[in-house]
Amino acid sequence: MDRYTSNQGKVVWFWGSENTLSSNDLEIEWGECLAMIEKVNIQLKSDIWLWKTGAEAEEFMVSKLRSELDRIDTMNETRVIKWLHWIPKKVNCFLWRLVLDRLTTREALQLRHIPLTSISCPFCNNAVESVNHLLVSCDLAQQIWTVIFQWTKLSLPRYTLSVVQLLELILSHKCNKIKKRSLYVVVAATCWKIWLTRNDIIFKQKSTSVSKMIADIKAVSFTWINNRAGLSDLGWDNWRSFNF
Ligand SMILES: [Zn+2]
Repeated sequence: MDRYTSNQGKVVWFWGSENTLSSNDLEIEWGECLAMIEKVNIQLKSDIWLWKTGAEAEEFMVSKLRSELDRIDTMNETRVIKWLHWIPKKVNCFLWRLVLDRLTTREALQLRHIPLTSISCPFCNNAVESVNHLLVSCDLAQQIWTVIFQWTKLSLPRYTLSVVQLLELILSHKCNKIKKRSLYVVVAATCWKIWLTRNDIIFKQKSTSVSKMIADIKAVSFTWINNRAGLSDLGWDNWRSFNF
C-alpha cells in the first residue's frame, strides 16, 4: 500500500523511493514489474489462501486437502487403514507397514540378502515366513482367528488369505460405529500379539500357548479401548463377552 494510490477503484502504482530510477536498466525492470503487478486485482481486505482443483479457485482449508488426498488411490491396500486413535500410534504404524508388506519377516529379510539360518515360519516350520502366512494362513494363526471370530460373533470365511481381506470384511460388516471400531481394534491387537509372540520365539526362545495369546489379545484390546476410546460404561465383562 506504500507504493500505490487508489482512485475510484483504479490503482496507480508509483516508484515511491527516495532514490530515483538512476539507470536505464532499472527503468526497464520497473516497467516489467508494473506490467506484472497491474494484472493483480487489488482489494481492500485481508489476504486469504486460495487453491484451485476444479474450474473456480476457492478458499484453502486443510480439511479439503485431506479429502482430496483420500480420494487418490495411490496404494490400494492402505484403504483399509483407519489411523484409529483407540489404538496406540506404534500399532497403527505396525498395521500400515503390515498391509504394505513391509514387516521384517524372514521372507522380507531374505529378499534383502540378509544372511539367515532359516526362512521358515517360527510357529510351524512348514512354510516360508511371509506376512500373510505368519498372521493369517499358518495353523497357529488360524486357530487364533477362529477363537477371535467366535468371541466377536463374526463368521470367519473359509478361505482367508490376507490381513487386508480380514480388515475389508470388518469394514464392510453391518454394525454400529462403536462395534466396527472395536472390531478394528481386535484385529489390530491380534496381529500385534502374533507378531510379538513371533519375536519372542526368535529372539528370546520363549514359547507360549494359543489360550495365553487369546487371553492377552482380549486384555490388551480392552486396555486400549478403556484408556483411549472414552466409553465410560464399557466394562471388562461386556468386553469379555463382546456384548455392548
Ligand atoms: Zn506357520
